[in-house]
Amino acid sequence: MKVLVVNCGSSSIKYQLIDMTNENLLAKGLVERIGIEGSVLTHQPANKDKVVIKADIDNHKTGIQMVLKALTDIDHGVLSSMKEISAIGHRVVHGGEKFADSVLITPEVMQALQDCVEMAPLHNPPNIIGINACEELMPGVPQVGVFDTAFHQTMPKHAFLYGLPYDAYTKYGVRRYGFHGTSHKYVSQRTAELMKQDINNLRIVTCHLGNGASLAAVKFGKSIDTSMGFTPLEGLVMGTRSGEVDPAVIPYLMKKLDLTADQIDTYLNKKSGVLGISGVSSDFRDIEAAATEGNELCQLALDVFAYRVRKFIGSYIAAMGGVDAIVFTAGVGENDIYMRGSICSGLEFLGTSIDPEKNNVRGKEQEISVDGAKVKIFVVPTNEELVIARDTNKIYASLV
Ligand code: ADP
Repeated sequence: MKVLVVNCGSSSIKYQLIDMTNENLLAKGLVERIGIEGSVLTHQPANKDKVVIKADIDNHKTGIQMVLKALTDIDHGVLSSMKEISAIGHRVVHGGEKFADSVLITPEVMQALQDCVEMAPLHNPPNIIGINACEELMPGVPQVGVFDTAFHQTMPKHAFLYGLPYDAYTKYGVRRYGFHGTSHKYVSQRTAELMKQDINNLRIVTCHLGNGASLAAVKFGKSIDTSMGFTPLEGLVMGTRSGEVDPAVIPYLMKKLDLTADQIDTYLNKKSGVLGISGVSSDFRDIEAAATEGNELCQLALDVFAYRVRKFIGSYIAAMGGVDAIVFTAGVGENDIYMRGSICSGLEFLGTSIDPEKNNVRGKEQEISVDGAKVKIFVVPTNEELVIARDTNKIYASLV
């Protein structure tokens, strides 16, 4: 039983082929620059050399066609035929309120995804295009949608409602949805396993800190609050996204800078965050290097980022009435030794702190809190693809 996991972005396709009999990764890869000059497929079969294939990739269908060709290639392929793929699991960013769990893709589900496009104009269209392309290229192979929003559907109304007139919610669906749900679910469950405790007894703050960044309060296995909102723009200061700002800033800046609605959207999503503050980069490695050389705005960007994360951790501890573990994941969370230390400095009042020696780790599961800490701190590399493959496998098994 082999599952192809597909994650379509606006100009990219990430994929993994997983053998579900042992959860082994058979191959993974990335199609980049779809529809842009210089498009390329990087295919990495397990235990073999990486292959880079440059070609004109005008659209997602061509991209997926190339992925299937690479997977079945006589030299660098890992399948003798496409027929070995039993099911396809798609990451879908926005499932709105309709999906609290992964689902088999049907025409009704496709319609519901279309209905969510207005709420996720950047993310859902490529997901829909990817599903349609797979349907055309592999007709009859079951496809499953796994939603970034699903894990957060357990949030109570008092956590997901904004202080707007109630009909903004009932008429227009304006509420907190939350994102990165697959990752928050995976790392919270893994943390419970590492603690050898039942997740139903644990209160965990999960910190997904990548280019996009969000925190979740996972109480007894369920998300009860999360920092991203109606869109992935809310909450933490991110690589290029502002996170929360006083909403009055938006019309103010629109007037001052003479910006349209689309332009202010770009300003907040692409030009803000640590990039906007530092003026140097959205990549924490670049910012930290510049800060070490004395760039004060870079140091300030790091301080603002760390402070916002720490503040959210505190608020989620209050929301859950306590905390048993804090877990770091994604690019920054898994790799940034300095940033984890900076975020956790000042949490000693909780009966915890980071052990600098244990914290000296990148991309590896590890407890990093001092021995005997009341609240455990962990690094857990996320594995959204595995969650997607597991959910797809479960739904496929119910069909056969
Ligand atoms: P996304 O999936 O949201 O694009 P990732 O989770 O891959 O993002 O995280 C990417 C970010 O992780 C990079 O922009 C970089 O800032 C950060 N990162 C990766 N490796 C390191 C490292 N060794 N030290 C500090 N930051 C790192």
